Amino acid sequence: MSFQGKERQGGVKQISSHSNPIIKEIKGLVTQRKHRRDSGLFVAEGLKLASDAMDAGWGVRYLALGPEARENQVALEIAAKVKARGALILEVTTAVLANITRRDNPQMVVGVYEQNVLPLSAVDPATAKTWICLDRVRDPGNLGTIIRTGDAVGASGVILIGDTTDPFAVEAVRATMGSLFHMPLVRCREDEFIDWRQKWPGPVVGTHLRGTMDYREPSYDEPVLLVMGNEQSGLSDNLADTCNTLVKIPQEGQADSLNLAVATAIMLFEVRREQLQLAK
Ligand code: SAM
Repeated sequence: MSFQGKERQGGVKQISSHSNPIIKEIKGLVTQRKHRRDSGLFVAEGLKLASDAMDAGWGVRYLALGPEARENQVALEIAAKVKARGALILEVTTAVLANITRRDNPQMVVGVYEQNVLPLSAVDPATAKTWICLDRVRDPGNLGTIIRTGDAVGASGVILIGDTTDPFAVEAVRATMGSLFHMPLVRCREDEFIDWRQKWPGPVVGTHLRGTMDYREPSYDEPVLLVMGNEQSGLSDNLADTCNTLVKIPQEGQADSLNLAVATAIMLFEVRREQLQLAK
């Protein structure tokens, strides 16, 4: 079966060559941060992510369908929506999908989407619950997991402070499991954040191994800024100084700290538990 979208926009192209320029362009988006930055595009694999992207209204440029997807009703329905938005449908071989994604068993669908990052001015404290603020997060798996956890707990979004890993790297996108398309992302410099945070009307809580307060003690009345430190060096001194409170998750045993994504998850569920309690 071939893709049979009825819409006028977009188009359908069959590709089996690895050296096709569109395939090379998509592969460049998987492998090179510079290519993602220059084009403002990124790659997300799988049917669920394609469905999430369409539901959340993200811009789409290409949707590559392997042979299996061209026999799958759900995939064909998503492809029809993608085509209606003016994107190009690529009917490709499994070998081409494996080549793009550098996987032996690629997903049946691979999409190319437009990046969406907001400025700090887009954050509205009046409607905010909790914004997760990440100081120079380095690991794409941690970032993706935090975006997914933030989505699960109903957080308002993620603020990336300073020089961070790319949220649109394929490893980060994979780890979000589709939550990337539902969680607003903001990017800013450290000095911009510190300046902007002066007008924040709610608690600004940092997590720190030298924190003196147990993380279950503060009042997390909405809207909260939860500030998490870098994997290697923790929270910068400037960011630690700008927080109202520095809290610590008590540990036993010999581990000197928790993994960043794990610590963020513990914090987020505690903040939400407390917010729901306060709302009663
Ligand atoms: N060597 C780093 C340090 O000295 O802070 C360890 C950083 S830790 C891997 C990454 C981040 O996770 C920390 O900056 C903090 O935000 C959070 N974190 C990890 N364990 C924590 C704990 N027990 N209490 C509070 N925050 C913690």
